Amino acid sequence: MDRISPTNRSQNMAAIKGKDTKPEMIVRRLPHSLGYRYRLHRNDLPGKPDIVFIGRRKAIQIHGCFWHQHPGCKSAHVPLSRIEYWQPKLARNVTRDKANLEALSAAGWDVMVLWECEIKRGDDIQEKLVNFLGRPAAS
Ligand SMILES: [Zn+2]
Repeated sequence: MDRISPTNRSQNMAAIKGKDTKPEMIVRRLPHSLGYRYRLHRNDLPGKPDIVFIGRRKAIQIHGCFWHQHPGCKSAHVPLSRIEYWQPKLARNVTRDKANLEALSAAGWDVMVLWECEIKRGDDIQEKLVNFLGRPAAS
């Protein structure tokens, strides 16, 4: 039996594939409205972090709960019908994420991972951003 309905799964997949996914748009608007300057999708950094604050050497990675296997999250359940397909595939994603975070950290970057479900719920994202980034530059 599948833990995720086909509809939910295709939504997950669509959210994962596109670059301008909704949770990302939500998070992207926020630093802008708070006065932070940032870049998007720096291809030269490990894991291509979604939002990069170059001057602060900080980056935000937005992870879909299913694709990146958010620990303990109900959206991260592996579909049991094709578990032999999904399990190794998702395990590779998790391993790759970990390696990317380690590489960024080794290069002196601070990275904050935001999960899709916390963004959708609106869990104090603004507070997390300010705590992570420090105060925006005075303008
Ligand atoms: Zn989640």
